[in-house]
Amino acid sequence: MIFASVFSTAATPDPPRKFVVVLDAGHGGKHPGNISGNSQEKEVSLEVTLKLGKKLEEHPNIEVIYTRTKDVYVDLWKRAEIANNAQADLFVSIHCNAFFKESANGNETWVLGLTKSKDNLETVMKENSVILLEENYKENYNGFDPNDPSSYATGVLTQEANMEQSIELAAMIQNNFASNVKRTNRGVKQNWFVVLLKTYMPSVLVEIGFLSNNNERSYITSESGQLKIVQSIHDGIISYIKTRDVNFTPVKENRPSSSATAIQPISSNAVYMVQIAAGSKSVEARSANFKKLPQISREKEGNIYRYFTGETDSLEEASELRAQAVSKGYKTAFIVVVENGVRRRL
Ligand SMILES: [Zn+2]
Repeated sequence: MIFASVFSTAATPDPPRKFVVVLDAGHGGKHPGNISGNSQEKEVSLEVTLKLGKKLEEHPNIEVIYTRTKDVYVDLWKRAEIANNAQADLFVSIHCNAFFKESANGNETWVLGLTKSKDNLETVMKENSVILLEENYKENYNGFDPNDPSSYATGVLTQEANMEQSIELAAMIQNNFASNVKRTNRGVKQNWFVVLLKTYMPSVLVEIGFLSNNNERSYITSESGQLKIVQSIHDGIISYIKTRDVNFTPVKENRPSSSATAIQPISSNAVYMVQIAAGSKSVEARSANFKKLPQISREKEGNIYRYFTGETDSLEEASELRAQAVSKGYKTAFIVVVENGVRRRL
C-alpha cells in the first residue's frame, strides 16, 4: 500500500500553468465615465468585459480574472495590484470614448508610453481624472495631477519592459477591429494612462467606440455590435498568446478540448531555455542588448522573433535563469522545454 501511494504521487506532474488574463471594466460605482443618451460608459464597458471574459473562459488553458464584475468603483492602483498579485500574463482595460464633436468615431487601443503629440490629450485626461475621486490619490500616484498637462511628461515608465509586447497585442486587436467591426480604425496609440502604469505585465486599454456619436452608440450598445467587438478583442488575445506559446491550443467549436491540457511527460534529453521577449522587431541576439543576461539566442517564426536566455539540461538551472531575467525587468519571462526539436512552454 505504501509503495502504491508513493508511486502514484511521483507519477503525477504539475498541470501546465494557465495563461492568466485580467479584464478591467473601466469606471464603475460613483464614477460613471462618460454619459450620452441613456448610456453610461461604466455599464457598457462592464457588459463588453463580461462577454469577453465568458468567451475567453471557453479555453481550458486560459484563466480570466476580473477587477470588477458589478457596478462598483475600484481604485486604479488597486486594479493593477489585482493583476500583479495574480501574476497575470496580460491586462486588458475596456472603455468607451466621448468627444464634444459628435462626428468623432472609431476604435483605438492604447499602450503606456510618452508621446510628444498633444492630440488625444483629452481622452487621456478624462480617463485619468477618475483618480480625483480616490482617497490619498496624490500619495498613491506620486503627486500626479490628472488635470495638469505637465504631469504627463514626467511619468516613470515601469511598463517599459513590456512596451513591445503591449504594442504587439494592441496591433492584433486593432487589426481584428479593422476586419470584423469595420468602423473607423484609429489605430494603436501611446500615452500616460494611470491604470496601465503599475502593472508588471503587457497591458492595453481599448476604447471600443464613441458613446457621444449617435450612430456608434447604437452599435456599441447593441447585442450584435458587442459580439463583434468581443470577438475582435478575443481573437487579438488568442493571436498574442499563440506567439508566446507555440503549444497553446485554443478550443474550437465541435472539438473535444481535453487534449489542450494534456500533461506531457518530460524526456531525459530535454533542453530548457528561458523566453524573455517576443515581438516583430529584430534585435541582435547579444547579451549587451538584453541587460547582460547570458547566452542570448533568437528564433524567428512568421513575423515574430522570440528571444531566449540560457540553454541547459537542468530544470533547476533554468529556474535560476528565469529568476535572474525577472529580476532584471523581464517580468513575464518563462521556461520553455525543447524535446526532439519541439518547443513548449512549461
Ligand atoms: Zn473610460
